[in-house]
Amino acid sequence: MHVQWFSLGAFQTNCYVLTDESTRTAIVIDPGYNPDIVLDAVDGYRVTHILLTHAHLDHIGGLRQLKEATGAPIYIHENEKEWLTDPMLNGSGRWPQLGGPITGPAADGFVAEGDTIPFAGRKLSVLFVPGHSPGSVAYLLQDQVFAGDTLFYGSIGRTDLPGGDFDTLINSIRSKLYTLPPNTVVYPGHGPETTIERERKSNPFVRDNFVHGGERE
Ligand SMILES: [Zn+2]
Ligand SMILES: [Zn+2]
Repeated sequence: MHVQWFSLGAFQTNCYVLTDESTRTAIVIDPGYNPDIVLDAVDGYRVTHILLTHAHLDHIGGLRQLKEATGAPIYIHENEKEWLTDPMLNGSGRWPQLGGPITGPAADGFVAEGDTIPFAGRKLSVLFVPGHSPGSVAYLLQDQVFAGDTLFYGSIGRTDLPGGDFDTLINSIRSKLYTLPPNTVVYPGHGPETTIERERKSNPFVRDNFVHGGERE
């Protein structure tokens, strides 16, 4: 199995493409902008799922073209079911200069905490991590987690957009992400990858409450 990512569009949103050589299948997570780049990456593969971490405009900008080209089913948390077709909720109505309002396509199915998605003999587990948006989810694949805009390298998602809530976000990070094995690689919605260990130690917004100290003879 192979993970590729592309930072697309004005927000440099990370789109992740998972491909498996033996089954010639692929999963796309958050097709933001530049659908041509994503379509090139899945050329020769059957896309079995399009997974969304949430429905902000920068994560769904290429959704229509990817859906039309591959026919793959789209999955999102039910809390953002309407967001895919409502430009005010997905934000594209607030920033029309970024390619105009986005309306649809609608989801084909919903994901919730504990669901599993099969992929080439493995499975992705769904973690419900609201806070940045009310239907934010992360997808855990073995020792890798695709975290959307919940947790970044040295930062966290903003909570000032519709349905965002700071305390909910912190609670999601502590209860769902920081409980993962420390060596878990975090692939965020923006910026470089990180690890659970690194963020637990040094994330300025949500850090483990360990005592800093030292001793010397
Ligand atoms: Zn977002
Ligand atoms: Zn984003």
